[in-house]
Amino acid sequence: MSLQPVRGTRDLLDDELQSHQRVIRIAEAIATTYNYRPIETPIFEYTSVFQRTLGETSDVVGKEMYTFSDRGGESITLRPEGTAPVVRAIISEGLTQTLPQKRIYSGPMFRYERPQKGRYRQFYQLGVECIGMASPFYDVECIALADHILKSLGLSDYKLHLNTLGDTESRNKYRQALVAYFSQYQNELSEDSKTRLEQNPLRILDSKNEGDQKICADAPKFGTYLGAEPKAFFDTVLKGLDALKIDYTLDPHLVRGLDYYCHTAFEFKTTTLGAQGAILAGGRYDGLMEQMGGPSVPGIGWAMGIDRIALMLPTKGNKKGLRIAVIPIGEELETEALKLTQNLRQHDFTAELFIAGNLGKRFKQADKTECQIAIIFGSDEFSQNQVKVRSLQMDEGSSNKEATIESSQLFSYLSALSI
Ligand code: ATP
Ligand code: MG
Repeated sequence: MSLQPVRGTRDLLDDELQSHQRVIRIAEAIATTYNYRPIETPIFEYTSVFQRTLGETSDVVGKEMYTFSDRGGESITLRPEGTAPVVRAIISEGLTQTLPQKRIYSGPMFRYERPQKGRYRQFYQLGVECIGMASPFYDVECIALADHILKSLGLSDYKLHLNTLGDTESRNKYRQALVAYFSQYQNELSEDSKTRLEQNPLRILDSKNEGDQKICADAPKFGTYLGAEPKAFFDTVLKGLDALKIDYTLDPHLVRGLDYYCHTAFEFKTTTLGAQGAILAGGRYDGLMEQMGGPSVPGIGWAMGIDRIALMLPTKGNKKGLRIAVIPIGEELETEALKLTQNLRQHDFTAELFIAGNLGKRFKQADKTECQIAIIFGSDEFSQNQVKVRSLQMDEGSSNKEATIESSQLFSYLSALSI
């Protein structure tokens, strides 16, 4: 039996887990001020939820999904992303009657990829979906929310890349131009891109293959094929971002890997994480709900990679608070010590009781569990309603400080220490 976690998965603990939790806490608090409400969908769905929406030629559907038959013979897929499940849920729950639906979610996603730093097979996303709003002002709002969250997490080392994928008509014209262009390089394209050339040439622009990327450099740009209406839409988005002083870089080759995007497409990238520089990505998906069998309702949203953002957060500053070790001397005081420990916790102190072993061993254990102070009492102290409070942290070469405190003064003494 292997005692290692499955390749591409990992156990989250301590600083890394706390960073994840911090990202979620801050994002949820900020999204609330934009009137977003939480949603949680199941970790697995019928395979068709993803197959129909993400597109057969996407990397996700073609190579990355964890799909299996369950014991009843249903084809099930562990969710590789959150948008299709949220849209599915809004249809299933009859919420298309009460639009707009602004929803925030977070949780694990699953993709069979080549694991490396910042790329896992079980990874964590937090995302928002704003469903039922067609105005470009919601594209602005959605991007502003992403930027607001990243800034509030203390991040500044990132850039917003922006493009438009236009409406269906301009996309069709662009597609023809791309087919004409890429057909000249048919033999040089990667195998994947050869298939994409037939099924979804836009996606070649998103290829990670180096040879493909060289060919893409000179590919036609969308701007030339953009109709007046989608152009006006995009201009309004840009104006809104300017008004909110949100910087962006126009990136004419930015496309989203998934089939359902139109109009605004965006990605927040950092240079600090090497190849895994994409930290948040999203766009408008007006056709998705209808494609899933619901009414024709527009939508826009994004998902951030929590694992990658956590890697960018400063590791210091996870406040641990005051941890207190309670150490009684003498078996007859153990019950008193138990009562005191519980009492401390009820007053919001973090406390741990050390009963077993000789005193030296108990101080060592207290140190290992990162307690900063110990409350010690033997029968002498107990009979005089006193305790000893000893500092366990030997900073600046000082020896352990110890003070004798009246029991009645203990909580106010500890409160002063924790400030
Ligand atoms: P990439 O280009 O890095 O493969 P993607 O386009 O497949 O990313 P999206 O589907 O847009 O990614 O997901 C949104 C975000 O989720 C990404 O920007 C990234 O931060 C994160 N993400 C995607 N796949 C992984 C993964 N396997 N491990 C960790 N984070 C991931
Ligand atoms: Mg990917």
